[in-house]
Amino acid sequence: MALRPVLQLPDKRLLQRSDEIEEITDAIRELAADMCDVMYDEPGIGLAAPQVGDPVRLIVVDTDWTEEDVEKSPLVLLNPELSEHDGKLLWKEGCLSVPDFEAEVERAERVLLRAQDLDGKELEIRAEGLQAVCFQHELDHLDGILFIDRISRLKRSRYVAKRKKQLKREAEED
Ligand SMILES: [Zn+2]
Repeated sequence: MALRPVLQLPDKRLLQRSDEIEEITDAIRELAADMCDVMYDEPGIGLAAPQVGDPVRLIVVDTDWTEEDVEKSPLVLLNPELSEHDGKLLWKEGCLSVPDFEAEVERAERVLLRAQDLDGKELEIRAEGLQAVCFQHELDHLDGILFIDRISRLKRSRYVAKRKKQLKREAEED
């Protein structure tokens, strides 16, 4: 089965706010499974539903997996919320929706995440470092925010200009 394509900048669908999930339907379970497939295939350590064109508040995260691992244990998080931000750090981030670019972003060092799992069970996860950064990055996607919205205007506009040129070149080659 073909994987769902990941939307990339400047797709406007990445900039919209995603809706709460009110009922855990088969479609939501299927979406979560598809998102995990995409995440491990890329590979990435997190993915938000709007990145595959479905504007609902669902993210999948796995900050422990490496390509040698056979066992996969993704966190599937519905309606995630963050509280108790604590500390600050700079982390070099990239994003499957923002090709060929990495930049340092200031994030909270520790967060408390609340969400539901696919059975509707309430989860509470204390995270720090990479996992905390990943939660913040993926939750931003649910509000239509990309990590390049959190870097300096100059760096952002340089990247956007480069990306536009690249897309133009690709269009000309086709
Ligand atoms: Zn991202």
